[in-house]
Amino acid sequence: MPVILVTNDDGIEAPGIKVLAEVASDFGEVWVVAPVEEMSAASHSLTMRRNIRVRKVGSRAYAVEGSPVDSVLIALFELLPKWPDLILSGINAGYNLAEDVFYSGTVSAAREGALYGIPAIALSMERKEEMHWDTAEKVARDILSEFAGRRDFRLLSVNFPSVPYGVLRGRVWTYLGNRTYERPVRRNGDGTYTIGGKPIFTVKEGSDVWAVLNLYVSVSPLSLDLTDWKYLKNASSSNLSQNSAKQI
Ligand code: MN
Repeated sequence: MPVILVTNDDGIEAPGIKVLAEVASDFGEVWVVAPVEEMSAASHSLTMRRNIRVRKVGSRAYAVEGSPVDSVLIALFELLPKWPDLILSGINAGYNLAEDVFYSGTVSAAREGALYGIPAIALSMERKEEMHWDTAEKVARDILSEFAGRRDFRLLSVNFPSVPYGVLRGRVWTYLGNRTYERPVRRNGDGTYTIGGKPIFTVKEGSDVWAVLNLYVSVSPLSLDLTDWKYLKNASSSNLSQNSAKQI
C-alpha cells in the first residue's frame, strides 16, 4: 500500500486538510503532519532559532509548531515509517496562482518533497464567502485518480474555483501566469504597515490565471530549477570579469 504524506499551510485543523486526508485514504496509507497554526505565506521557511515541538494528535497525525516545510522535513526524517510515495499539500483556502507560488506555504511544502525526489501535488481552491468543500473533495479525487500511481511528474500545483462541481469545465495543463498587487504595502494611522493589497491578474490564454477564470481546474507542472538558462547561454559568451574564466 502506498504511503501518502498530507500537509498544508492553513493548519492541521483547517477544513481543506481534512478533505484531502479523507480522499487520500482511498489511495494509500495516509500520514498527516502539518503546522498547528495557520502559516499561509510562510513560503519555504525553516524554523531555526528555536526548537520545534511536535504533538501526536491521531494514530498517524502530528501537529507541528513550525512551518509547512518544517512539517515535511520532520515527517520524512523522523515520523514516517518509510519514505512516502506521494506528498499532498492543501487543500488551501485561496488560490496559489502565478507569482504567488513564491509566497505560498502550500506549494513550498509540496516542493520540499519534490526536492527529495518524492512526487508532490499542491492543491488550492479559490477563497470566497461560499467555500465549496464538496467540490474540493471531488476535484482532489479526480486528481488522485489520475496522478496517484504515476511517477512521471515532480511537482504539480492544482488550482480551481470554488463553484459547484458541475460548473467546472474539466482539467487543463497550464503555465504560471502573472500577477501584481495594486498596493502591496499600506501605512496605517498608528505608523505600522500592513502587507496585502488587491491582486491584479494579467489574463493570458493557457495560463493558470486564465484557466480558473474560465472555470477549469488548472494543473501547472512546476520546475525546481531556478537558473535563467536563456540568459546564461548568452551571458557565457562574455566573461564576468577578466579573471573569472581563469579562476574556474
Ligand atoms: Mn494557506
